[in-house]
Amino acid sequence: MHNFNKPFIVNKSFSNITETVKKFNISGDGYFTKKCHTFFKDKYKFANTFLTPSCTSALEMIALLMNIEPGDEIIMPTFTFVSCANAFVLRGARIRFVDSNSKEPNIDVSKINALVNKKTKAILVVHYAGIPCDMDVLVKLIKKHSLILIEDCAHSIDSYYKNKPLGSFGDFSTFSFHDTKNITCGEGGLLVVNNKKYIKRAEIIREKGTNRSSFFRGEVKKYSWIDVGSSYLPSDITAAYLYGQLVNLDIIQSKRIKIFNRYVTNLNKHTRYFKIPNNQPGKKYNGHMFYIILKTKKERSSLIDYLSKNKIQAVSHYVPLHSSKFYEQKHDGRLCTNADLFSSRLLRLPLHPYLKMNDIDYICKNILNFFKI
Ligand SMILES: *Cc1c(COP(=O)(O)O)cnc(C)c1O
Repeated sequence: MHNFNKPFIVNKSFSNITETVKKFNISGDGYFTKKCHTFFKDKYKFANTFLTPSCTSALEMIALLMNIEPGDEIIMPTFTFVSCANAFVLRGARIRFVDSNSKEPNIDVSKINALVNKKTKAILVVHYAGIPCDMDVLVKLIKKHSLILIEDCAHSIDSYYKNKPLGSFGDFSTFSFHDTKNITCGEGGLLVVNNKKYIKRAEIIREKGTNRSSFFRGEVKKYSWIDVGSSYLPSDITAAYLYGQLVNLDIIQSKRIKIFNRYVTNLNKHTRYFKIPNNQPGKKYNGHMFYIILKTKKERSSLIDYLSKNKIQAVSHYVPLHSSKFYEQKHDGRLCTNADLFSSRLLRLPLHPYLKMNDIDYICKNILNFFKI
């Protein structure tokens, strides 16, 4: 079976775990957590970084840091993972969902301006499939309305917009190290705080609302409860595993990008039958995902069945959040037709570092067979 995903294992993760366990300190902010923080700050020039138990918890921290209250509004794409919305809905916010653009599932930046009002607090964007959103437009919008920009980079580690790494544009950005992402430790996340105004408080909220981090640095004699907060630190065992992956980032990325490019080479002559992600100037992709867009939902179902019979697992993706059971009554009624289209016609093909070039050729051959090309 050619699985859609298979998390990549590197040996360094095992020796790192042994090393941290032998230090007798596997709670949060240990040796490897600090090494992970430094890795991201050095490589991507992020102002400050905090490992978290998941991308979801990093998003929840942002909602706390922004003091989100009932009635506040957050603008975000409807074609995204539920945690983007939930983190803010938990604090009473109202979500203004935006359609995808017609080319790709990313947010349609031309539809944002009309939704901004006095209650708007932030624009959250997702770089779907590792494909950068139109950052020039977004940065202008943020400046014009003095809003907070949040980048959900769960798909987009090591993607670049005009040579600038994704995750470095936002006041905040978040990453996921779930098994389905390029770099993984099973469950894990990262909060990036680029707006320096929020760094001190992020440290406190992450440590249960206490100044324990200052205490560990010897800045105060005793730590105590000084703000709201929760427990947002992963164990150093998680960080040790993750660090093994991070030092192999270039190897993992080059394997994924090679597979992505092989799909493009094999399929780009057949865009009469289906669409593939198009290459856009100034945007460097990270090989997170390769998808095709079929002409109808029915055709997608038939192709999924056909591939499955040939031992290839291909999968659909998000149900747009504006039409979800939980939110459809709360949504303001605007149509999001591009997102609906991607929801019913987008198909993700297997992409993980264990796939060989002849596996990709086999998968593509089956797709062409299906269309009798
Ligand atoms: C995976 C994902 C998340 C959630 O990540 P977790 O680490 O599982 O919490 C959030 N946003 C997007 C866009 C994702 O793909």
